[in-house]
Amino acid sequence: MKLNTPEYISSIKPYEPGRPIEAIEREYGIKNSVKLASNENPLGPSPKAVAAVKSHLAGMNRYPDGSGHVLTGMLARKYGVNPDNVVIGNGSDDIIALLAQGFLGLGDEALMPLPSFLMYEISVKVSGGVPVMVPLKGLDIDLDAILKAVTPRTTMIFLTNPNNPTGSHITKDVLTAFMKEVPENVLVIMDEAYIEFARDKAIYDSLASPLQDPRIVSLRTFSKAYGLAGFRVGYGIMDAGVAGILHRVRQPFNVNSLAQVAAAAALEDHEFLNQSVQTMHQGIDFLQEQLSAMGIQSFPTQGNFFLLDVRMDAGVVFQKMLEQGVIVRSMKSYGFETYLRISAGLEEENRRFLFVLEQLLSQAGGMT
Ligand SMILES: *Cc1c(COP(=O)(O)O)cnc(C)c1O
Repeated sequence: MKLNTPEYISSIKPYEPGRPIEAIEREYGIKNSVKLASNENPLGPSPKAVAAVKSHLAGMNRYPDGSGHVLTGMLARKYGVNPDNVVIGNGSDDIIALLAQGFLGLGDEALMPLPSFLMYEISVKVSGGVPVMVPLKGLDIDLDAILKAVTPRTTMIFLTNPNNPTGSHITKDVLTAFMKEVPENVLVIMDEAYIEFARDKAIYDSLASPLQDPRIVSLRTFSKAYGLAGFRVGYGIMDAGVAGILHRVRQPFNVNSLAQVAAAAALEDHEFLNQSVQTMHQGIDFLQEQLSAMGIQSFPTQGNFFLLDVRMDAGVVFQKMLEQGVIVRSMKSYGFETYLRISAGLEEENRRFLFVLEQLLSQAGGMT
């Protein structure tokens, strides 16, 4: 059958997510593998979230609260904004898609760093918009080049802070200067999926004083520091007018009941959040020290992940490590031929990664 789909849809390359551990173990006949490929929380979900979900299972014959009253209210109080400034979503992916649907007409342009989170590009294309990719400068988002790429058709700019996959960040001073040059009708979407892990106090945190600038849309997620990636909950804090557009576009029940309950409980589990952040910091410091002792360069990060240069084909290293049950992310398709991205795991996972990498590189003679 000849499909009647528009070209701007059929030309989209499907998103290739990091595969689940179970699928990889089945394919390679391995057990007890270590996954450091998707920046997930190795501690598991917040125990309070798990308990809250269990106690709500009996109510699952009912539709969710489509307004997300409890979670939205908690988020509004946390940041000192009104509930009509908050939009919750089925992951922050959902909110990215809603922004694209709500603010891009056919042929309108959205600027984004290259490489960056693939969902920006996909969501923009699905909405009939044009993704305009602006290459990084080294490992940093090139804000000057982004400003130069603005045209009368630009309606939004995606910025990731800290940036995935590089771990770099934008400071407050730099962002403030940037905003002065952005046209008044262009939305600047600050994707802060990893900001809980940031250690540089100078980083721009869009929710330190929210809603100062109606163009700024803050995106956060429960998938990383809160350990709830499987539940799919993210949120945006934004101007009420912008939020009103997203409410027109979204599905009425875009966040399911258990996800709402899990997120609300996790938001109050300060102990778990602190433990997550601490574990990730310790893991990153340990990994980077050990890598440095092995003569392997790794790069500074404000996230729970970082890049390292294995000085041989990253695709080959990825595949060989996979066969040993250690799952990492190759940066080859991002244009970093010899780089891997890993997130910090638990101590024994980090040791296993180092052991397998060291063995592999010494076999390959890739070490000096
Ligand atoms: C993981 C991640 C997200 C979060 O996605 P969810 O849909 O909330 O799980 C958003 N942006 C970036 C850059 C990420 O890496």
